[in-house]
Amino acid sequence: MKTIYLDNAGTTKMSKSVINSMLPYFDEIYGNPSSLHSVGQISKEHLENAREIIAKCINADKNEIYFTSGGSESDNWAIETACKFGKLKGKNHIITTNIEHHAILHSLLEKQKQGFDVTFLPVNENGIIKIDDLKKAITNKTCLVTIMFANNEIGSLQPIEEIGKICSENNILFHTDAVQAVGHIQVDVKNMKIDMLSSSAHKYHGPKGVGFMFAKKGTPLFNFMHGGAQEGNKRGGTENLASIVGMSTALQEAVAEMNEISQKIKPMRDKLFSELSKIEHSKINGDLNKRLPNNFNMSFEGIEGESLLLLLNDDGICASSGSACTSGSLDPSHVLLAIGLPHEVAHGSLRLTLSKYTTEEEINYVIKIVPKVVEYLRKISPVWDELQKGKRKFVL
Ligand SMILES: *Cc1c(COP(=O)(O)O)cnc(C)c1O
Repeated sequence: MKTIYLDNAGTTKMSKSVINSMLPYFDEIYGNPSSLHSVGQISKEHLENAREIIAKCINADKNEIYFTSGGSESDNWAIETACKFGKLKGKNHIITTNIEHHAILHSLLEKQKQGFDVTFLPVNENGIIKIDDLKKAITNKTCLVTIMFANNEIGSLQPIEEIGKICSENNILFHTDAVQAVGHIQVDVKNMKIDMLSSSAHKYHGPKGVGFMFAKKGTPLFNFMHGGAQEGNKRGGTENLASIVGMSTALQEAVAEMNEISQKIKPMRDKLFSELSKIEHSKINGDLNKRLPNNFNMSFEGIEGESLLLLLNDDGICASSGSACTSGSLDPSHVLLAIGLPHEVAHGSLRLTLSKYTTEEEINYVIKIVPKVVEYLRKISPVWDELQKGKRKFVL
């Protein structure tokens, strides 16, 4: 059976051009960019070239890009640096949302233990914050606003430009976890007044274990990884040149193909919504318009998301019920709870995330299989039985 991969928010397949662009760096261009000899200096040139390509893709300057091991490291670094800087200025308040990725949420829970005061802004039923809530939350102690660009579970997009404007007017550092946005939708750090941004290559057909942090010129960036003088003395460690070049190829390609891919996969995604909405007692999660083009998320009452995933997997469909990080546990997704879904409904959710490799045939197959699997699961579900007999009330 052919595998249909619809978990591209979890990770993506590398494109052939990305793989090819990386190959010379394993044997031909192998120097350490910090070495002064010719072999090292050639590597240095390639490293700086990749930095320039990446900077252009988000309208940044070359010296504002810092290479990291991925989204989680960039998120941790941004929070760490803003907190250190805040402390020096006697500020200890951070504003975020309650739908952030765990790399942000767990870092902030750690900061709370260290005495930082964290405001978790609520989101509306579509997963978007209210600008007024942000304005009201700001105090003279606020040292950081960290709000994700696009949500990894329900694809909702935050009003980043407005948030950037408010932070800039109030002189507060603004960080955004843009791991799901970069390479998928337009990101312009200058127009959006972003101070710090996290990105990860494996979410846009680049290699895993590499990413970058954008930090606007003048942003107080503290040394996070102590070591050599790499990355402007801010992050020690010999650069992962092959992966960095792979990331630059992947991002350049993603940005060049962005509109074309979006036009190709949006209709497929919308077809999933319109067809699977025909399943009774179901609900679309997230905003239909302010949404990533490749994200589908729905809840089906009376079923278990885990069982749904396992049965879909038996039919060759790779899907997700929440974020990859929570799929190991039985807790319902914090994002689905934050948009107001009751626990039992949040449990019965399905996330499908498309990519440029997704085909019309695959989508048609999914549209055929999902209703059958949902029907089967409901037939054997004690909860569905109670709903049918009126012993329990339908929520959807
Ligand atoms: C995947 C993801 C991360 C983590 O990135 P890694 O490179 O896997 O560490 C952080 N934030 C969001 C929104 C993500 O989707």
